[in-house]
Amino acid sequence: MNKMNNKVTAVILGVSLVICACNESKTKEMKTESKEKLETIFPKGEKGSAELFTGNAHNFGFQLDSVFTTVAGNVYFEPGARSNWHRHPSGQILIITDGVGYHQIEGQPIEIIKKGDVVQCPPNVRHWHGASKDVGLQQIYFVPNTEKGVVDWDEAVTDKEYKKE
Ligand code: MN
Repeated sequence: MNKMNNKVTAVILGVSLVICACNESKTKEMKTESKEKLETIFPKGEKGSAELFTGNAHNFGFQLDSVFTTVAGNVYFEPGARSNWHRHPSGQILIITDGVGYHQIEGQPIEIIKKGDVVQCPPNVRHWHGASKDVGLQQIYFVPNTEKGVVDWDEAVTDKEYKKE
């Protein structure tokens, strides 16, 4: 009777181990997937011009009433993608909703930005922003006081500048 019980126990243990092993590999898969696929709140939008962005950046503009004199939207930067150097006459507010990216004000070190960060770019200050090398970035932007202008574009961020941290 005891021998029989031992056999049953051994079989149950074996089956359990196989189930555990399967579950573990599924969990790993999901973890990898969630790292690569960023949370999306808005449609992907239109691909940004190669003259203004390095790599793949997609812009989805929000429809705001003109009374607010504010431009807003969502940009999804694929890994390695970033804006050119640029300035906003009235500054810009960024809200990072997923992923990891970089923001740099000229003359200052690159700042790492990630989900939950609120980034303020002062008026008329040269800067750039984009995704990190390995993980994309989802950012919501607000550009206020558009009667002063929205954005003045400058040259691309070189690979050398992008890799400096
Ligand atoms: Mn900006």
